[in-house]
Amino acid sequence: MGKKEAEVLSVVTYYLSLAEKNAKKPNSKEYAQKALLLCDRFNIQRPYYLRREVCPECGSVLVPSVTSRVRLRRGRAVTTCLSCGYRVSRSYPKLRKEKDEDGMRALPRRCPHAMILMQ
Ligand SMILES: [Zn+2]
Repeated sequence: MGKKEAEVLSVVTYYLSLAEKNAKKPNSKEYAQKALLLCDRFNIQRPYYLRREVCPECGSVLVPSVTSRVRLRRGRAVTTCLSCGYRVSRSYPKLRKEKDEDGMRALPRRCPHAMILMQ
């Protein structure tokens, strides 16, 4: 990643955080659009979190339970934009099914609770 790209991405994440903070206010869409426009203007690939958190249909920021609804269905997370109804379904990692000596189901390695229990 070049210096220019890193600088642009820091501004992009700043605008995205502003959009998330003001998710309920009308100016949140402007912040999200600015973040998208910056990437286009400097010819930089939109980072994955920007692609995931901005509705491709209406351009509003997708904050779960505030501006979007997330439902788990058949191993996939279905995100619905609450302002335009756009839906996107994405797969998410499955829980490991191996069992411990106690017969308890093992917690996934990345689970924050598992990290606390291990300490
Ligand atoms: Zn939308």
